[in-house]
Amino acid sequence: MAEDYDVLVVGAGLAGMRAALAAQQAGCTVAIVSKVYPVRSHSNAAQGGINAALDEADSWESHAYDTVKGSDYLGDQDAIELLAREAPAAIIELEHMGVVFSRDEQGRLGSRNFGGASHARTYFVGDFTGQALLHVLYEQLVRSGIMTFSEHFVTRLVHDDDGRVSGALGLDMRSGERRMWTAKAVILATGGMGRVYEPSTNALICTGDGMAIAYRAGAPLMDMEMVQFHPTTLKSNGALISESARGEGAYLLNRDGERFMQTTAPHAMELASRDVVSRAEQIEINEGRGVDGCVLLDVRHLGAAKIMERLPQIRALALEFAGADMITDPVPIRPGMHYEMGGIKTDVHGATPLPGLFAAGECACVSVHGANRLGANSLLETVVFGRRAGEAAAAYATERGPVRRSPSLLDDESRLLNLLLARPDGIRPAALRQEMGQTMTVDVGVFRQAETLRAAQAALVEMRERFARVSVGDKGRVFNQALVSVLELDFMLDLALAVVAGALAREESRGAHTRVDFPRRDDAHWMRHTLAFHTPGGPRMETMPVAVTRWQPTERVY
Ligand SMILES: Cc1cc2nc3c(=O)[nH]c(=O)nc-3n(C[C@H](O)[C@H](O)[C@H](O)COP(=O)(O)OP(=O)(O)OC[C@H]3O[C@@H](n4cnc5c(N)ncnc54)[C@H](O)[C@@H]3O)c2cc1C
Repeated sequence: MAEDYDVLVVGAGLAGMRAALAAQQAGCTVAIVSKVYPVRSHSNAAQGGINAALDEADSWESHAYDTVKGSDYLGDQDAIELLAREAPAAIIELEHMGVVFSRDEQGRLGSRNFGGASHARTYFVGDFTGQALLHVLYEQLVRSGIMTFSEHFVTRLVHDDDGRVSGALGLDMRSGERRMWTAKAVILATGGMGRVYEPSTNALICTGDGMAIAYRAGAPLMDMEMVQFHPTTLKSNGALISESARGEGAYLLNRDGERFMQTTAPHAMELASRDVVSRAEQIEINEGRGVDGCVLLDVRHLGAAKIMERLPQIRALALEFAGADMITDPVPIRPGMHYEMGGIKTDVHGATPLPGLFAAGECACVSVHGANRLGANSLLETVVFGRRAGEAAAAYATERGPVRRSPSLLDDESRLLNLLLARPDGIRPAALRQEMGQTMTVDVGVFRQAETLRAAQAALVEMRERFARVSVGDKGRVFNQALVSVLELDFMLDLALAVVAGALAREESRGAHTRVDFPRRDDAHWMRHTLAFHTPGGPRMETMPVAVTRWQPTERVY
């Protein structure tokens, strides 16, 4: 079955829905495709909040500077300036759409402190901010009448003869029917790739599909080595304990009850940026001052009333998955994979180097987060750059002539999927996926070095070979989750190799990327982004300079 639109949006998280609304408001016909029902997108899991310099005592320049410093000077400053300038209007717009932000005693929007920020500029709804935002945007999507394909899985992009992206192929997961969407512009808003690592704070659906789809179509992936390890994740299942705990005043303690951030970040303490805190924790653990492979997060001094008002979800998570009641006990936590700062390279309009292809949200790299994202800047990125990508894609679609449709592509894709289904019993995908994730966590984690990175690369190449013998357990058509998992694993193996290639190429330590064998930041050679291009033999690497507008790199102290 085939459908025609001006703009096709792949992904119905915050970035995808904001982009779709913008494209429709610009007068385009729009369709949005999502492998899950829109409100199940990972944006739903965001707890802590969304940043903006709304307070009179704050300024967009201060927000921008904190973001540049947080990025360890790898963020593109033109994009960061836009992010910070457009933030206040984006928050007010969300409020007007119906997001009931938490308020202070005076009835004004309340804000909380977040790591690496010089002002309390994180706006929030309790500790379920993402859910509040996602549901309100979904209401807007329903109201708009935009054609929504839920539980449809996109497998690849379609090109016109002139090389311009002109749609996508995929399958209706409910029926197993193959589908083609033809469009004058395509926006990828497919979210993160957390599940390339095991464990991760990310939902099981965060498998980086859009990044891999764009990469295979020829778009470069930028700064993929920049993987954020969040300082507070649960040992049992990797679930996130939001930064809002530290924002509200939590302490991090080692086995001797010492607030060890004293030595690393005497001013910001627990609210230094995430890369700094994760490294400090890992050092405590590695040097034997941890507790059973963890350190402790302690909020007891906040008192039961504040914990119940500000951190109810986090308390429930710790109770359920760590058996610790935060009101009476410290919670064991450790650094865990949380966010991919890199992604599909775009300009500030969300345009990728491939004509007709745009990207926004976590799958994109604009780049506003550089080598380390500040907490609560990601939700902001989804709405600011989601809107910009929607507007730019609409403008592109309006100028572009009709798109030629080639139904034969649908037959080709169908044949490939049928071949995959027909493979005889072979290697089980779940075990391979686990092996990939653990290799990444152990060898491409908080601390890295050439030797272990090369070992990871060799192991991944071997896993890629083994993947050719993976079989799909379920041969049926209806809701074939086994088939979807195999397609996702295929994408993730490409991305894992791109992360390792970037980590090997970048011979310095910057932000989340700490090379034990190159312990210093090297501004003379590495004020540059890495770019990975897909080739059949593995990633081909290039670099390009960082955009600097007004802040020259200096030493980063918290
Ligand atoms: C636990 C957790 C807490 C967080 N807390 C915060 C926070 O407090 N503040 C903050 O700023 N950031 C936070 N983040 C980060 C932030 O939530 C995400 O980066 C952001 O929500 C990503 O939004 P998105 O729209 O790009 O993608 P997502 O919300 O992940 O949506 C991706 C969409 O793409 C679709 N999709 C993917 N692949 C396909 C495919 N092949 N075919 C069809 N559809 C597809 C999915 O169905 C989904 O609709 C948190 C992240 C996590 C994991």
